[in-house]
Amino acid sequence: MDKLREILIGHLSVLIKDKSVLKAFEKVSREDFVPEELKEYAYLDKPLPIGEEATISQPTTVAIMTEALEVDKGHKVLEIGTGSGYQAAILSKLVGPGKVYTVEINKTLAKRAKETLKSYKNIQVFSKDGSEGLPEQAPFDRIIVTAGAPEEPLSLLDQLTDPGIMLVPVGVGTQILKKYIKDKMVVVEDLGVFAFVPLKKT
Ligand code: SAH
Repeated sequence: MDKLREILIGHLSVLIKDKSVLKAFEKVSREDFVPEELKEYAYLDKPLPIGEEATISQPTTVAIMTEALEVDKGHKVLEIGTGSGYQAAILSKLVGPGKVYTVEINKTLAKRAKETLKSYKNIQVFSKDGSEGLPEQAPFDRIIVTAGAPEEPLSLLDQLTDPGIMLVPVGVGTQILKKYIKDKMVVVEDLGVFAFVPLKKT
């Protein structure tokens, strides 16, 4: 596994310039976040099914999003779409002593992620619909949505600090990954086309 992880990180290092992001990938074992029968594929650069119609995102996607989020130590981060908990684990290594708040709508996945992440003391998993964010814990320095939003969830910008950064894949079927940079005003950048499972609403 160590060799496979090294190969994957070598592959990611071609794309990712931020050394602290690559370090986080070294620290987190992706095999801990995939189902038992798929562990041998944990270090392939592929999304993998985790049940409940959800997937653990492809490592390249997690790496691109993590770098684009520009997280710093001490940041308070909101993730919408915990899934396996892998993205939250990577973020937690970068923000410590800051905290990651992660919201999962599917009860089974939320319960499982709580278990997987129990040794990560700076991650809190919330079992609820995150499509309206987490107003009771706002504001956040960073917000990352890891499910495809059918429309731009602009109301989430109210839960972002100023300055702050929010990443959201927007679209139905495939999505454009949008980066919202808030600094008195909001500037939006498009980071390319990705495919996520859809953001649900209760
Ligand atoms: N970040 C995850 C992958 C996310 S897959 C990882 O690292 O493994 C997208 C997840 O978003 C799925 O688990 C899905 O159940 C969840 N989701 C969809 N709609 C949601 C909503 N409204 N609120 C919270 N989670 C949601």
